[in-house]
Amino acid sequence: MAQDVQREIEALLARHGFHFSKSRGQNFLINRDIPRMIAQASEADAGCGVLEIGPGIGALSSELCRIAGKVVAVELDSALPAILSETMADFGNFSLVSADVLKLDLAALVRERFDGLRPIVCANLPYNITTPVLTAIVAAKCFESATVLIQREVAQRICAGPGTPEYGAFSVFMQYHAQNALCFDVGPENFIPRPKVTSTVLRSVMRCEPPVSVADEAFFFRVVYSAFALRRKTLVNSLMTSFGALGKDTLAGIVASCGLEANVRGERLGLEEFALLAAALREAEG
Ligand code: SAM
Repeated sequence: MAQDVQREIEALLARHGFHFSKSRGQNFLINRDIPRMIAQASEADAGCGVLEIGPGIGALSSELCRIAGKVVAVELDSALPAILSETMADFGNFSLVSADVLKLDLAALVRERFDGLRPIVCANLPYNITTPVLTAIVAAKCFESATVLIQREVAQRICAGPGTPEYGAFSVFMQYHAQNALCFDVGPENFIPRPKVTSTVLRSVMRCEPPVSVADEAFFFRVVYSAFALRRKTLVNSLMTSFGALGKDTLAGIVASCGLEANVRGERLGLEEFALLAAALREAEG
């Protein structure tokens, strides 16, 4: 059955003279159950406008079109629109934007295309641009949620808690802006070509309010990224990379005033502690 689908897809691609591009993260789903499960996990319904990034030949797009009000897909590869016009011909609620998603103003696209619909993202993302794409989705501040198939290690990092090896600045960024949950794994055998890694569906529901009170978000993230700058060093030493002008003794005093031990490392701090530290550093910087 899965082999029949694979042969069908390979014949379609051969007929269009399509060749996979590794640099574009092209791994197409060949198990028809998986796109259906991803679309269901997105909780899309008739009131939703779905932004899909990288439709490929439309495996996930068609499942989304069955349950959503509208699907707008952004695809970089100029060889794919011809194939999509064949595979997506039956879906009047599908439209394609031929572009690099990283060069688009996503909030403007949503305003233009999703009038009256609740905007969400659902995609099998190209591995090589996962972090900038998720950052752009969060920064657009217009999506209710993002349900994305990504490399399992990246999904685990996003959901990791303080004190674990996977926890880092991007975990804090995503957890500040969204509630993130791992949905299910997808093995390499479900794609052509087969990736070397296992993938996971991550669902991020954007927060209406931040989970901690922060006076200046840009400053807060300057503190977070600085705290992780030297992972093997203490928090004080790591903070010296961005806040060196304050001097090491002052930084040590600020860390102590937040109730943190002198030799604590940045990776031990949760959102509350980062918020406290950012407030104290902001005051010290004046
Ligand atoms: N959705 C299809 C599926 O699940 O079978 C294909 C997913 S494949 C992992 C990633 C897709 O993203 C490819 O079609 C690729 O051409 C496209 N892509 C890669 N970089 C892109 C970019 N910067 N902007 C838009 N699409 C991109």
